[in-house]
Amino acid sequence: MKKLLLLILAVITVQLGAQDMAHYKKIVKELSSAKYQGRGYAEDGANKAGKWIAKEFAKVGADEVTCQPFKLNINTFPGKMEVSVDEKKQIPGVDFTVREFNPSLKGEFKLYYVDTLNYNPEKIFADLASPEYEGAFVVCDFMFTYKHSADFKKLQSKKDCSNSGMVYTWEAPLKFYKAYGDTVREKPIIWVRPDFPKDAKTIKVDMENEFLEDYECFNVIAKVEGSRHDSCYVFTAHYDHLGKLGKKTFYPGAHDNASGTAAIITLAAHYAENRPEYDMYFIAFSGEDANLRGSEWYAEHPSAPLGEIKYLFNLDMIADNNPEQYCEVSNEGMTEFALFEQINAEKGYFKALDRHELDGNSDHFPFAQRNVPCIFFMNENGDAFKYYHTVFDTWENSIFSNYEPTFKLITDFISRQQ
Ligand SMILES: [Zn+2]
Repeated sequence: MKKLLLLILAVITVQLGAQDMAHYKKIVKELSSAKYQGRGYAEDGANKAGKWIAKEFAKVGADEVTCQPFKLNINTFPGKMEVSVDEKKQIPGVDFTVREFNPSLKGEFKLYYVDTLNYNPEKIFADLASPEYEGAFVVCDFMFTYKHSADFKKLQSKKDCSNSGMVYTWEAPLKFYKAYGDTVREKPIIWVRPDFPKDAKTIKVDMENEFLEDYECFNVIAKVEGSRHDSCYVFTAHYDHLGKLGKKTFYPGAHDNASGTAAIITLAAHYAENRPEYDMYFIAFSGEDANLRGSEWYAEHPSAPLGEIKYLFNLDMIADNNPEQYCEVSNEGMTEFALFEQINAEKGYFKALDRHELDGNSDHFPFAQRNVPCIFFMNENGDAFKYYHTVFDTWENSIFSNYEPTFKLITDFISRQQ
C-alpha cells in the first residue's frame, strides 16, 4: 500500500514537473480557431486573443498578469476581396493574395503580359500609354520584377505610369507577404500562382482595405515569482498573426505563432507549480508580424530592467518536424550557448542546434540589440514550413513532435545555469 502511494506521488510529481502536451495542443487549437480571425487587427482579432491569453496565464497560476498597450498604424482587409479572371472567380488565399499595403480598388481591367524573353521597358511603357492598354493590370513573374526593380517601381507609381495595378506570379502555396502595412500605396499588387492563365484578357477586382490609425493593441506580461528578485528569466512569443483577407478568409497562424505562445503558457504553468529560484516573465507580444512592434515597445518599456535578464528565450514557430533546431543567439548569450549544446548532446533532444547569425526576424532581436543574453528557437524547413504565412497554417497541419524537446532543453538549461 505504502509502495503504491509512493508510486502515485512519484507519478504526480513527474506530471507536475513535465511539459503538458495536451494543454499545449489545446492552446494552439484555440488560438488558431475562427474566433480570433487570424489574430490580426481587423475585428480586433489579436486583442481578443490577447484577452484569452491573459486569462490563461492567470489560470495556470501566474502571480501577476498585465496588459501593456501600444499603438500602431496598420492596413487591414476586413471587407470585399473579390477577383475574377476572364469571369472565373479566384479564391482568396488559394488562387490569389495581396500585398499588405494595397489600397481599395473596384473595376474591370485589361491584362497586359510583360514579354520577359524580349524584355524592353520602353516598349512596355509605350504600350501602357496607348488606348489599347489604358489602365491595364500588368502581369509578370515576381522574380523577374525583382531583377528589374527600378522599372517595376515606376509601374507602381501613378505619376510614372497609368496602369491600375500589378499581378505577380509566385510559387504556391501563396504567401501573404508580411503585415508591414503601416502605409497604403497607390496601386494594388495581387499575387497569383504560377498556373495563372498565360493569355487571359481581363481581370475584375473588388477589394476593400481599411487603414487603422493609432490602433491600440497590447502585449500580455505574466510574472511567476521566484525566491530571488535580483535577476530574472524571460520567455517570449508573439501571439499576433496576419489577420484577414476579405470577409471570409483568415490566416490561422497555428505554427506561426500559436505554437510558441502555447509553449510559453505551459512553461508558466510548469514554473508556477515548481517555484523557480529567480523571477520569471512570460511575455506574449502583439505586433510582431507588423514588424516587431510589440517587442520593440516592451524593450523600451520593460517590466524589469533589461540588465537583470539572466537569459531570454524567444519561441517563434515550433510546430514543425525538422530534427535540426534552428537558433539565433545574441553576442551576450554566446558563452552560455555551450551549455545548450552540452545538454543537447547529452540528451539528444535534437540532431543538432543549427545556429545562424542574428537576423531582425523575430522578437528576440530588439533585446539582442540591447545586449540581453538571448536565444531564439524556430523550427523551420520541416514538413509544415510550406504553409508559412499561408491560409493552410492550421491546427491540422501543425506537427507537435518538437514541443517536448524544446521545452526540456529550456528547463534543463535553467536548472543547470549558474
Ligand atoms: Zn512568427
